[in-house]
Amino acid sequence: MSANDVVVKVNNLKKWFPLKRGIKDILARKPRKYVRAVDGVSFEIKKGEIFSLAGESGCGKTTTGRTILRLIEPTDGEIYFLGKRVDTMERDEIRGFLRKKAQMIFQDPYESLSPRMSIEDIIAEPLEVHGLISSKKEKREIVSKYLEEVGLTPPEEFVFRYPHELSGGQRQRVAIARALVLEPEFIVADEPVSMLDMSIRASILNLMLDLRDKRGISYLFITHDLAVAKYISDKLAIMYLGKIVEMGDAVEVIDNPLHPYTKALIAAIPVPDPRHKIGEIPIKGEVPSAIDVPKGCRFHPRCPYKFEPCDKEEPPLVEVEPGHFVACHLYARR
Ligand code: SF4
Repeated sequence: MSANDVVVKVNNLKKWFPLKRGIKDILARKPRKYVRAVDGVSFEIKKGEIFSLAGESGCGKTTTGRTILRLIEPTDGEIYFLGKRVDTMERDEIRGFLRKKAQMIFQDPYESLSPRMSIEDIIAEPLEVHGLISSKKEKREIVSKYLEEVGLTPPEEFVFRYPHELSGGQRQRVAIARALVLEPEFIVADEPVSMLDMSIRASILNLMLDLRDKRGISYLFITHDLAVAKYISDKLAIMYLGKIVEMGDAVEVIDNPLHPYTKALIAAIPVPDPRHKIGEIPIKGEVPSAIDVPKGCRFHPRCPYKFEPCDKEEPPLVEVEPGHFVACHLYARR
């Protein structure tokens, strides 16, 4: 693939949320504190590629996705989408360019679809917002086409229904149809199957894979579930406390994890075999606060392998095998 195939490029992206200071702190001239939700991440996503961000809740993966789409404002760093710089774009250009070509699918199809709108109105809403529908007939034709594309057939059985009349899987298909209706080139899918029953997760993942194959859509897929990440992703990045600690080909990262944190996450994946012993998770404690990020390697308070430089120097993300990047002193000093 050439550089022209890069759909999304993120350089040193940061999103820090300022904390409110009390009157005592202001009078004592204490510096403002920040939640460092995303603290310098860099990656790129190519055309038709599914790039997953995985990690425990609070690691910054959802904030990264929302910041790329300018649903929240970045604190620092650069975001490029289809070669255009997005982080400095004015509102009009965001609306005319980014909102048309990039979409988001949310975790909870119960909350992301308005209960007062019919399925037809929900799917057609992005077209109406951008003034792209000229008649009711055209609206019905377009909505029917996308209902068929996401497997809700026959479409006339769905157009007049309301979200509460559908199952969770059908609702997520409606959310996907709404995301598709502007023919986007990029979709941020934030835990799109985590609220669904096990039995229908695979069908939604397969639908997303089919759409990628058919339309060449690129995805940023956000998940805490590494089994799902392995199934759907081409590339995988593991996040911890706002940073990427490991990144590479998804199968390689999961079958040959290098970072101690990735190894611990993989040891915790359930295996559907009663004879399988759950792997020991060699890390202790909880994720530290993103307000007081540990000095040096931010994983060092929980790492069983920490050694002399770990609590002083932050390890850079380096390529230790072709296409496989790790931020850990164990590898940086090889
Ligand atoms: Fe553990 Fe040190 Fe590697 Fe951090 S840099 S993961 S503390 S060995």
